[in-house]
Amino acid sequence: MHSSDSRPTRSTAFSKRPSRRSFSSSRPHSERSGATHTRSAHGTTSAPRTSSRFIYPDSAPTRGHSASGSGERRSYSSHRSSGGGYSRGGGSSFSRGGRQGGGRGRRPQQTFDVSKFINLNPAPLTPDSPYEAKHTFKDFGFDARIVAAVTDMGIETPSAIQDQVMHHIMEGKDVVGLAQTGTGKTAAFLLPTIHKTLRQPGRQTLILTPTRELAIQVEQELRRLTPKMHLYSTVCVGGMNIRPQIMGLRRKNHFIIGTPGRVQDLLDRGHIKPGAITTVILDEADRMLDMGFIHDIKKILKDVPTERETLFFSATMSKTIEGLIHEFLREPVTVSIKKNDITGSITQDVIRYEHHNKFDTLVTNLKKSEFSRVIVFGAMKHSVEKLSQELVAAGIKADAIHGNKSHGQRQRALSSFKTGRVQVLVATDVAARGIHVDDVSHVINYDLPNTYEDYVHRIGRTGRGSKRGQALTFVPA
Ligand code: AMP
Repeated sequence: MHSSDSRPTRSTAFSKRPSRRSFSSSRPHSERSGATHTRSAHGTTSAPRTSSRFIYPDSAPTRGHSASGSGERRSYSSHRSSGGGYSRGGGSSFSRGGRQGGGRGRRPQQTFDVSKFINLNPAPLTPDSPYEAKHTFKDFGFDARIVAAVTDMGIETPSAIQDQVMHHIMEGKDVVGLAQTGTGKTAAFLLPTIHKTLRQPGRQTLILTPTRELAIQVEQELRRLTPKMHLYSTVCVGGMNIRPQIMGLRRKNHFIIGTPGRVQDLLDRGHIKPGAITTVILDEADRMLDMGFIHDIKKILKDVPTERETLFFSATMSKTIEGLIHEFLREPVTVSIKKNDITGSITQDVIRYEHHNKFDTLVTNLKKSEFSRVIVFGAMKHSVEKLSQELVAAGIKADAIHGNKSHGQRQRALSSFKTGRVQVLVATDVAARGIHVDDVSHVINYDLPNTYEDYVHRIGRTGRGSKRGQALTFVPA
């Protein structure tokens, strides 16, 4: 699939003209705590109701669950599992290690403040003070076709990250952009890079992303921004047949977009020529590190000539990231966009369950009419798959997305969810990284997330589009 070499004239799937958008600024309640390969031409938070503490089970580290060759390499082994399991009747979730600190683990137990999952008085959806961009898209000196494409997409003003970072990229500086998904970061690095590629067609940009979904999404954004510009790209991601990717790489590519493991593989085999790469972009670098791609990333950056430009985008900063930046970027300019506190404007609550009725509690909720488009998060690939099947058996239209599914299966599940053919998408954290679906009515944490940051990321799936949904977290009674 996706093996066609689409020519510039080919109309893409993005002909739909979205409504006009403009990015709004940081919300008042910014108190985020804790927290195909394809070869294509492109053309107030409420007072906590409870302060009870939930103790995470401390499961023993287990290796595995890494989808070899897929974008989903992260193994949760080094993190504690939230019990990992789902089982009908709900018994297994906290049975490993015991839910009340029965953890056989030798490590200290992590506690989780349940009140963090509750916010019954969300901040208003509309922010009081939208971000006021200092530039228009015309101010950056972009090729007129780029400005036209942006306008055609219904994008009127630069978002904060775009406003503050694009001129540095235009000037050829290395950049560190601290911005999370949904801030317009993709266009922030694509627009100047596209411009430079139009001026110097010999340029080649390598974009690394943590997951195949994100790689594909970046390519889709690239296509939307480059209609009829005769720019070519190949997506190189794991979990998919490598042959068509190799074929794609034999031809001219202005952009190579991929996951680190597969890109490294293709470099090793000589299909990607490091000497040809003029720009390296790391998208969601923190996620890539979470997923264990550090060695691939370092190797790739060492392979590519040092006179390249390097753009580094990450939602968070850590010591490891600082180290990478220090080692591989030249006097970078850092632009940090304060995170919108989406958590503050999402209604959050917990669902207390007894072990014997966890699944039934889920089904009862899903049968309510307001649960129109729901993402249910589970801890493990197999439990997510099983849960999805049992939901179907219980008469709920559901599908699953996790790293053990083929790329095609994941895309189909996502598409069914987006189009409303299925009501419920059961997902692992990693598989959900690249999901951008508007108007998700509910996010349900059937299994607890590993960290508060993962929690925020999960519930942010309802923070898209015009309506903000609700987040519900299952905690043992
Ligand atoms: P991202 O943060 O890159 O995942 O972008 C999220 C969404 O915002 C994408 O669908 C973009 O097409 C869209 N977008 C990018 N820039 C802007 C902008 N300046 N105004 C409104 N929407 C934008």
